[in-house]
Amino acid sequence: MKINVPQNIITALGLLEKAGFEAYAVGGCVRDSLLGKTPYDWDVCTSAKPQETVAVFENYRTIPTGIKHGTVTVIIDSPIEITTFRVDGEYLDNRRPEQVSFTAELKADVCRRDFTVNAMAVNREGEITDICGGMEDLEKRLIRCVGQPQKRFDEDALRIIRALRFAATLGFEIEEETAAAIIQKKNLLNNIAVERITAEFSKLLKGNCGKILVNFGSVFNVFIPQAEITEKIAFQVEAAPCELEIRLAVLLQNLNSGAAAELLKNMRFSNGIIKSVQELAEYKDILFVAEKPCVKRVMNKIGVEGAKRLALFKEAIGLSQSDELIKMIDEIEGVQECYTLSRLAVRGCDLSEIGLADRQIGKALHALLECVISEDVVNEKTALLSCARGLKLG
Ligand code: ATP
Ligand code: MG
Repeated sequence: MKINVPQNIITALGLLEKAGFEAYAVGGCVRDSLLGKTPYDWDVCTSAKPQETVAVFENYRTIPTGIKHGTVTVIIDSPIEITTFRVDGEYLDNRRPEQVSFTAELKADVCRRDFTVNAMAVNREGEITDICGGMEDLEKRLIRCVGQPQKRFDEDALRIIRALRFAATLGFEIEEETAAAIIQKKNLLNNIAVERITAEFSKLLKGNCGKILVNFGSVFNVFIPQAEITEKIAFQVEAAPCELEIRLAVLLQNLNSGAAAELLKNMRFSNGIIKSVQELAEYKDILFVAEKPCVKRVMNKIGVEGAKRLALFKEAIGLSQSDELIKMIDEIEGVQECYTLSRLAVRGCDLSEIGLADRQIGKALHALLECVISEDVVNEKTALLSCARGLKLG
């Protein structure tokens, strides 16, 4: 079995070899190529020390990305991360060590990697080196720790959530001993920086996560105890559109909007994500049917994107269908129908001119907008002004 290595990676590997070093593409790119997927990026590992790598690529732009950890980025068409073969230093507190030491051997480098399917290397010719049995596990579609699972999770507990993440994104099972160690060591996740957990958890949620959420509920319970993950909810999450906001909202559907927002804030999700999920939680039970006035009221509150997201969310939790709603939202937006004050054919000054007092104007504009949305009045200035004259504003 051979892999198609892209030209810029062949160039990088070739230059390192010509200078007398070993060099391979390694990790996710090998795994994804073997699965017939286009790798997101290609990481290179080499026996060259960082300074030696810089010297090899003297004719290219290099960036000292993480010299301490052995990583140099070289720009050949696109950025390529080149990392010196290394073994990790001593593990303290179940986190990856600050200190690493370099080694001349590929074997040591792949053996410190997390899972067998992530521990394969490929040379310039596309030939695979598989020291840890990654190929066999890839064929069996299994996530298995390199080495002894408990020890590997003790070393770096982030691997616990990474295992679940890869199982979800690749649609793999977790090998038995690895699975048992995940459950046994789950509480070590408490020692991991929450944003690192969140990064992996976000990728997990966007994968085929139903079965993982169910089977490893006790692991998720360590960092999101508030979320009650039933089987029904887990599979609703998996069936929902692959948007983090929607999937989170489905997962947290039993929390009120304040509780959901607090949980997400503690997990350091971005403000944008928090805002969207909070909005979905808040409008979950609002009347939202495929009739123009109703759809426009929702669009008025949460905008075009918000309304579409809400339609998808409500469908995901079994409350309504989204197709007709989304079609109607597009129709309304497509011809710029009026559902906000900014599109109303009169402004405050127009109402002032026909004699409304300043304190009445805000109220009057909202009342007119509601008349337009309910299709009682057309959105034209004359019609709206005559309607305004008839308003009882107190
Ligand atoms: P993705 O396509 O999601 O980026 P990836 O396999 O490239 O998948 P990364 O998180 O980018 O995953 O890590 C790159 C490689 O580094 C992995 O394939 C693995 O070999 C190694 N690795 C990353 N994190 C760890 C860890 N915590 N412990 C051991 N090895 C790790
Ligand atoms: Mg990667």
